[in-house]
Amino acid sequence: MIKTKNIQRPQLVLVVDDQEINRDAIGAILEDDYEVIFAENGKEALALMQKHANELSIVLLDLMMPVMTGFEVLERLQKDEVLKAIPVIVLTADKKAELTALQMGAADFITKPFDMPEIILARVSRIIELSEGRILISAAEHDPLTGLYSRNFFFEYANRLFRYHPEIHMDAVVINIEQFHSINELNGRSFGDEVLRHIGNEIHAFTTETEAIATRIEGDRFAIYCTGQPDYRALLNRIQDKVNALSTKASVQLRMGVNPWKKDIEPLVMFDRAKVACNMVRGDYQNPLMVYDDEMRMKELQNQRLLGDLRIAVKEKQFRVFYQPKYDIQAHPPRLKSAEALIRWNHPELGMIPPGKFVPLFERNGLIGIVDNYVWEEAARQVADWRNKYGYLLPVSVNLSRSEVFDPTLTDRLVNLIKKNDLDFSHFKLEVTESAYTDNARQLLKVISRLRDLGFEIEMDDFGSGYSSLNMLSDMPFDVLKMDMQFIRSIESSETDRRLVKLILDIARYLGVCAVAEGVETEGQLAFLKSSGCDLVQGFYFSQPLPPEEFEKLIQNEIIYR
Ligand code: C2E
Ligand code: MG
Ligand code: MG
Repeated sequence: MIKTKNIQRPQLVLVVDDQEINRDAIGAILEDDYEVIFAENGKEALALMQKHANELSIVLLDLMMPVMTGFEVLERLQKDEVLKAIPVIVLTADKKAELTALQMGAADFITKPFDMPEIILARVSRIIELSEGRILISAAEHDPLTGLYSRNFFFEYANRLFRYHPEIHMDAVVINIEQFHSINELNGRSFGDEVLRHIGNEIHAFTTETEAIATRIEGDRFAIYCTGQPDYRALLNRIQDKVNALSTKASVQLRMGVNPWKKDIEPLVMFDRAKVACNMVRGDYQNPLMVYDDEMRMKELQNQRLLGDLRIAVKEKQFRVFYQPKYDIQAHPPRLKSAEALIRWNHPELGMIPPGKFVPLFERNGLIGIVDNYVWEEAARQVADWRNKYGYLLPVSVNLSRSEVFDPTLTDRLVNLIKKNDLDFSHFKLEVTESAYTDNARQLLKVISRLRDLGFEIEMDDFGSGYSSLNMLSDMPFDVLKMDMQFIRSIESSETDRRLVKLILDIARYLGVCAVAEGVETEGQLAFLKSSGCDLVQGFYFSQPLPPEEFEKLIQNEIIYR
């Protein structure tokens, strides 16, 4: 193995020899790879060792010297808790002295004359590696729960493999558990621990079969650094099987992200990308494995860009709020009732960006509040504007992100908005996606209930895409049930979906809430919904989301000059 000079942190070597010619010879051999300092006798050497105790990687020590011999230095080092840890290679021509020196704690020896520079270099580098390894191993905390390496040790080790063995191509693998917090909540922490232990055991078994190291990076996230595997799905399956065997009651789903080896990409970056891949398949139970590729890299760069551009976009008003009408379909003819405010980003270079491209991204990064606030301000102002202009009040609903419910200023912000624009609470409806209700039920119930008490109307968005059960539904505070678009898409072709839609409409009636269908595109869908008793419909059949000036024409034509 050829050692390359570590540029960030050069390794420091102390050469101790009373002969200048020897110091020069050793210095010449080492100076390309190491930082070298010199001492002429034992006394000077000890002084330098004290001074550089934390930086010294190794000492090359002559045995026969005036003032203080190498033997005496070795003896003193043995008694010093700190200095004892610095490895020493003795320089000698005397075979007998070698043995004594080794017994006195020297790590290795180099024989004079120094005519084999490669051997000297190899020994020095091997001893440094060994000694650093020893320090690490003694300081290494294995994760007490799983027995895998601790995070720091894992990355230290991975970095070394990367640096010293570039010829071995290692992939980065990240494994995560879906909804681990719910698993803990539902089954107790000790069950959660048992799950982590089982995963750890199986990963450990895997690392003993291949060239691999592994860690539990944090919580429920595991990382494996391994030579390229032909079939990662098989690896995921074998760990999943172990977890499945644990309990028939609880369902524990794993997901995996892989970042295949690429030249010169260091472990930290590789694991970041594997994590990105792993997060891409969050909630995807059909395809829980994702391999990081160039397309994802592009996407990541794009995401970084959008994150970076957000504040400017707000300042320069690049966001636009569009309005999509909702119609009362039980009226003849259907009647414009309200609208949903939907954001678009008119990016100066990337063009019009739909919310699907940035809303989830900003949600993940805790920035969605900036966007939502913008939309709320704009929508409230618009409602007031139309009222002032036409004397007609069209209620508008805005989307509320799940993370918003944790913002302690939420209620105040909304209340101020209503007051500022002199609106009524019922003019401003809030859409909350169904899965937010099930994700953080307690906090959400508290916040939503408070908003409802004030008079805001709450619409449960995308109903049917989450996992609400009937008995949960009756405890959840909301006024409107908005069916997920998926159901509507196939009601003309699928009897099952027709029955499901009827069931959802029955549930809405039973709960005494209004039912809305969104994503309605065809006459047939509309007819079915109407005959089944659905109240409101939103969808391309009536209109796409429109910029305010277009939407205003709807108000004029359908309400004012009708
Ligand atoms: P959503 O709240 O469920 O909004 C309905 C989405 O369905 C909108 O997509 C709308 O354009 C689309 N849609 C309506 N009718 C039809 C139809 O007939 N066919 C089809 N194929 N699609 C239809 P959009 O505007 O792209 O918004 C997507 C999602 O982004 C929204 O889903 C909402 O979750 C989120 N979103 C939009 N604006 C905001 C916002 O201001 N804040 C937050 N937090 N989320 C927003
Ligand atoms: Mg919505
Ligand atoms: Mg929706």
